[in-house]
Amino acid sequence: MTDPRPLAAGRGCRDTPVLKQRGQREVFCGLTGIIWLHRKMQDAFFLVVGSRTCAHLLQSAAGVMIFAEPRFATAVLEEKDLAGLADANAELDREVGRLLARRPDIRRLFLVGSCPSEVIKLDLQRAAERLNRQHAPHVAVLNWSGSGIETTFTEGEDACLAAMVPGLPSASGRSLIVAGALPDVVEDQMQRLLAGLGVGPVGLLPARRADGAPPVGPGTVVALAQPFLGETLAALERRGARALLAPFPFGEEGTTAWLAAIAGAFGVSAERFDAVTAAPRARARRAVAAAAGPLAGRTVFFFPDSQLEVPLARFLTRECGMRAVEVGTPYLHRGILGPDLELLAPGPVISEGQDVDLQLDRARAARPDLTVCGLGLANPMEAEGLATKWAIELVFTPVHFYDQAGDLAGLFARPLRRGGLLGGLAGGVMGGAPAGAAP
Ligand code: SF4
Repeated sequence: MTDPRPLAAGRGCRDTPVLKQRGQREVFCGLTGIIWLHRKMQDAFFLVVGSRTCAHLLQSAAGVMIFAEPRFATAVLEEKDLAGLADANAELDREVGRLLARRPDIRRLFLVGSCPSEVIKLDLQRAAERLNRQHAPHVAVLNWSGSGIETTFTEGEDACLAAMVPGLPSASGRSLIVAGALPDVVEDQMQRLLAGLGVGPVGLLPARRADGAPPVGPGTVVALAQPFLGETLAALERRGARALLAPFPFGEEGTTAWLAAIAGAFGVSAERFDAVTAAPRARARRAVAAAAGPLAGRTVFFFPDSQLEVPLARFLTRECGMRAVEVGTPYLHRGILGPDLELLAPGPVISEGQDVDLQLDRARAARPDLTVCGLGLANPMEAEGLATKWAIELVFTPVHFYDQAGDLAGLFARPLRRGGLLGGLAGGVMGGAPAGAAP
């Protein structure tokens, strides 16, 4: 079996001291996860118990609603609720009753907490238990919090998946669970690769439909498809499952290492592994080489946002020829990110958490060729002449596995290419009349 190319330096950034700062942070809250989760889980409904601000966030992030029947909504807490003058629980029960009577297609209902529901200490866990008793078995009512008081936006998915784990059926034999919401087309590609390797049964968390919930037990191994699922992994381990830690499946190398870890756990032969992966690996390498031209030799600076920063830095430095200046991440889970840290060459600052002003000072001093950051920082940084990439785009776009490796490199190359084009245009205009223009 082909292992990822090891680093000459040994443990890479695994033991690098981490710069930890706490101050003002610039991130979206966990409600953002509803945008991709509601597309993935076709019989689920997400009822945010929050304020008009929460409703605005969801509406603007979701864009134009294309479903005849939406799969999320906000139960707005009015002033009388916030002041404790109304029984919010009674109102919630009434709203849920109306919703489920009108929408028999809903099989999973998530009550999603927010900053306002936490501030007034509305106990959504008890509410979910009460409503579950009323509406089971047709509907499972669960709760999780997307509050932005102490979270970053990908923690919403972690909280949602972790909430589902206690209700998963029990498994007796050997099985694999892949945890992390992936676009359907990417999930299908992954399933084909795993089937080719002869790995199975394969369960997906989240499942597209309630009746596809994956069984879990002591014979289950868990491969995370996203690095921000620490709570979900811990919940699966409490059910007896074993974690399979590996680099994340971004780029050719990450995908091969991720599949190799699964193949190792399921006793797949080296010959079969190579036979299944050789062609897509070669395709992925060619696609990355074709897309990564503008990235070679350039520097990249990650602000903490999506929690994908460490595996993406590994991909950009090892497969695209970039040099990382700083790799900031909201939380550094050394167990989950260890294999990627090990493949990241020493050199960049590894930082956890954020004091945004201090971090902006470091970015301005470093003048990286590309800055990966949240939406709120991107425009001001562009105004200062720094090319940026929105971190949130990496969660909305298909970027996993072999067939997306070239697109992933292309996502990072685009801002640099655009900067080059604009620079050329400015040079043409400012440097004199363009060729062919009248004197
Ligand atoms: S949960 Fe909190 S941070 Fe998120 S939109 Fe609502 S009020 Fe804002």
